[in-house]
Amino acid sequence: MGEVWDPARGTVLREVADSSVGQVDAAVERAGRAYERWRGVSAGERGRLLRRFAAVVDDHLEELARLEVANAGHTIGNARWEAGNVRDVLDFYAGAPERLTGRQIPVPGGLDVTFHEPLGVVGVIVPWNFPMPIAAWGFAPALAAGNTVVLKPAELTPLTALRLAELAEQAGLPEGVFTVLPGRGEVVGERFVSHPAVRKICFTGSTEVGTRIMAGCASQVKRLTLELGGKSANVVFADADLERAAAAAPYAVFDNAGQDCCARSRLLVQRRVYDRFLELLEPAVHAFRVGDPADESTEMGPLISAGQRDRVDGYVDGSRVAFTGSRPDGPGYWYAPTVLLADSPRDRHWREEIFGPVVSVLPFDDEADAVRLANDTEYGLSGSIWTRDVGRALRVARAVEAGNLSVNSHSSVRYWTPFGGMKRSGLGRELGPDALHAFTDVKNVFVSTEE
Ligand code: NAD
Repeated sequence: MGEVWDPARGTVLREVADSSVGQVDAAVERAGRAYERWRGVSAGERGRLLRRFAAVVDDHLEELARLEVANAGHTIGNARWEAGNVRDVLDFYAGAPERLTGRQIPVPGGLDVTFHEPLGVVGVIVPWNFPMPIAAWGFAPALAAGNTVVLKPAELTPLTALRLAELAEQAGLPEGVFTVLPGRGEVVGERFVSHPAVRKICFTGSTEVGTRIMAGCASQVKRLTLELGGKSANVVFADADLERAAAAAPYAVFDNAGQDCCARSRLLVQRRVYDRFLELLEPAVHAFRVGDPADESTEMGPLISAGQRDRVDGYVDGSRVAFTGSRPDGPGYWYAPTVLLADSPRDRHWREEIFGPVVSVLPFDDEADAVRLANDTEYGLSGSIWTRDVGRALRVARAVEAGNLSVNSHSSVRYWTPFGGMKRSGLGRELGPDALHAFTDVKNVFVSTEE
């Protein structure tokens, strides 16, 4: 039995039973049987069922959002966006089955066509930082492509996923098509990897666990998508609109209390505007509203757990603190937004993913220096470039080794566009128009026209 906590109060919300290996095996068997029927459901009917699922989620948006505020400490504004994102991703991929066309390839002696065949049972493994959207980025395209899904939420945040499974049933998804199995990573997650009937793993989480999962999948040549850690750069050139860049920088790293794989936690500022930029950044950090996540005006809630708070503190302790924002007193896992000055790119807080509301700042000299420093990391998930020079924006965007870059903005995730990491930030892409291809195998069929 796992305890589920309210991180803003430091109290137990509920107990959720952990699934055993036997329960996982039974669920995979049910999902395998359901797959035989689900893959045969016509594309139009599959789309209709997913659209109905989206509508039921829409009817329960506020309930889902409140559940996430309680279980993950997300601000109510963010949590509403997250529940809305589940609806939108379902809607988007509800249109996909009818458009999952193959090709007709000119060959001599016959007709050659390709099909995008579903894989079978897909295992989706989700982290605790964005429980709802990350689940949907896996299950919505997987289901649309004709697979059935078993999904494991993170130990700390199973509540919204469990509710989504009930809503799927309410929407009329057949039994066994979408099953949520709460439980431990080493039990449920590992069984997804080792079970031969699970044909693909869609994993989001730490690079450490993702590396183990990749090794586990190798022995069965199991398909795999990995969305892993990040240490993204926010590069501010001297010619940027400094006021806008400084006003936006806190949101790029303190949103969701910094527990965001896309957090721009390395702030690179061109040396000649470095002092001016810090002067502008300080009031923006002081003004960042940290408090009760259920309050409509709050911009940042607590960290997910006491353990995470200690981990974050381990990076700040002994480092050069430029300034900090505020945090409430009392129970809950609070941490004030913190700006650290890096002495060199070798500093631990500059190199490692902290996953908390901490940003490290370092000056750079010119464009080449900025690109070199931005790329001096094992990660490559996201990043931002602030400049008024369009040519420079494009040069730097092409040179930075990251999967998702934004210019004069901090946007990373839009369900219409592909999302994923380079280097050790991941493998494969989620979302966007091609996501179904990650949940299908191409089959080529040749039909002879010889007499
Ligand atoms: P984690 O790797 O500890 O856990 C992620 C999930 O994997 C959990 O459900 C966990 O129970 C499960 N798991 C743990 N051990 C396992 C095992 N041996 N086999 C199978 N499953 C196992 O990560 P976390 O602490 O929950 O999440 C934070 C991390 O996720 C950060 O590194 C963050 O950058 C990353 N993340 C990446 C993205 C992205 O899209 N790239 C998005 C969000 C979070």
